[in-house]
Amino acid sequence: MKHLTAIALLFGAYSAIAKPAPETMPNTASSSMGNKELTISSWNIEHLAYPISDGCRPRSESELNEMKAYAQSLNTDVVGLQEVASKEAIEQIFPKENWQVFISDRPDSESYKCRESGRMSSQQKVGFAVRKGIEVQQVKSLPELALDSRGLRYGLELTIESPHGLLSILNVHMKSGCFVDDYSRSDSRSCQVFSKQAPILDSWVESKEKAGLPYVMVGDFNHRLSAPYNKLTGQLTVNTDNSASTLENTTADLIGCHPYYPAPIDHIWVGNLSSNIAKKASVASYKNMDPKAMLSDHCAVSLSISPQRFELSNAVKWQTTSAEYRFLTAATYQRAEQQIVKSNFNGNWAVVMDVDETVLDNSGYQANLELKGQQYTPASWDAWVMSKQATFVPGAKSFIETVIRKGGNVALITNRNRNLDSYTWDNIQQLGLQLSPSNVCLMGRVSEDKSSINGASIKNDKDLRRQQIESGTASCFAPKSGRHNQFETSQIIMQVGDNIEDFVGVVQHEADIETLLKGAGIKFVLLPNPMYGSW
Ligand SMILES: [Mg+2]
Repeated sequence: MKHLTAIALLFGAYSAIAKPAPETMPNTASSSMGNKELTISSWNIEHLAYPISDGCRPRSESELNEMKAYAQSLNTDVVGLQEVASKEAIEQIFPKENWQVFISDRPDSESYKCRESGRMSSQQKVGFAVRKGIEVQQVKSLPELALDSRGLRYGLELTIESPHGLLSILNVHMKSGCFVDDYSRSDSRSCQVFSKQAPILDSWVESKEKAGLPYVMVGDFNHRLSAPYNKLTGQLTVNTDNSASTLENTTADLIGCHPYYPAPIDHIWVGNLSSNIAKKASVASYKNMDPKAMLSDHCAVSLSISPQRFELSNAVKWQTTSAEYRFLTAATYQRAEQQIVKSNFNGNWAVVMDVDETVLDNSGYQANLELKGQQYTPASWDAWVMSKQATFVPGAKSFIETVIRKGGNVALITNRNRNLDSYTWDNIQQLGLQLSPSNVCLMGRVSEDKSSINGASIKNDKDLRRQQIESGTASCFAPKSGRHNQFETSQIIMQVGDNIEDFVGVVQHEADIETLLKGAGIKFVLLPNPMYGSW
């Protein structure tokens, strides 16, 4: 659970503000980080030299401008770059005014003659461009990936600080030429080298898994890691102690942009990210995708991570904001109240009322769950009841007052657990309705209410309690002494609920609506509840 806590810190205070469009986004981290979305990219930029006209892939001034525009269009915060010669080379595309630039400390290697142009090569290193304002806490080269060979590339790891926590990002450019699914079954020289790099990468991942902090791994892996049986992918995603790895290839479903090489080899992996973080991976094509005109033989891939945004359901929106809900509930109670006022009952009489979505409105609980992407649990429900934050369903208070004024009793028969009765009682009192145990009997549910169902005299889990009200055997909540049995025997003249099973002898799947309608508004009063029920 440690990593969940970490990422909760990382994104805990994130709000649901959309990232501005690239053209309106100032090149400062304070704005990009402020909107709580972080974008990380990986771009093999193909022999980026300094000056730009050097090396195996010399570029013109206009190509340089196109590359700068492309880099800006990525709308990214951190870019892992491969095949860059130097900091100066990177700064041609990611200018110093807006970017912090880092490069691995791999020593320069000997130049070689470029295959196609016959020119002399520039250095091939990995580097990072990090938007200014993002604090980079640590920069660390990984020389071990070069296997003590001058021809191989170091890795480069940054630890950046967001306003909410630390994030490690490793950038690699693995040995080229080993494109088989199982590098260990090829005796090509490239695969032999690759097979020595693979465990180094694996142990870096495992160390991050153990540390529990969120991490990212980007780069040109020169390997088809999204292929179903790729050996390296299998290694990376299974911890050696057989514990489940959190590592995920977020770019696995992307198709490479190069028309000749659609199997992607540039990837962005994440580990220890909470499931509450939304991830969106993309590949950015160039304006001209003719292989001869592409600005690099690789396109940049990007990953945006942001707190997951959950929408309220229509049901909760309707109950919490609509005028129709308020009108319907108030009007239903108004008619029920008129019915009570005009009737003359002899003897002791009671109105049986359900509590949730009948007397008390729990849309606050439901909204809170939905905004967190959570479902009902008994534990969270109990916590809500104990918080006493429910409000009145419109019309309920006046109705109860009228029943009592007319000399009636009120039986609150609820499927909240009976041990929560004191919270229910207090919640209602705090809303300004004074309850007296002499004329209000509150009865939460006990196990007997369910076990007594026999399909005949007791059909639903409130029938037993209704019978107890009518026989004078009800166990009612008493504010100070716990419970009492002094509630007077009462004839039930009306039942009010939001669920058809709030009516005597009725079960959802065989409710006789025609019969119930004969008592609609007189014996049976039903309120709307779009949020949950027994359907
Ligand atoms: Mg209810």
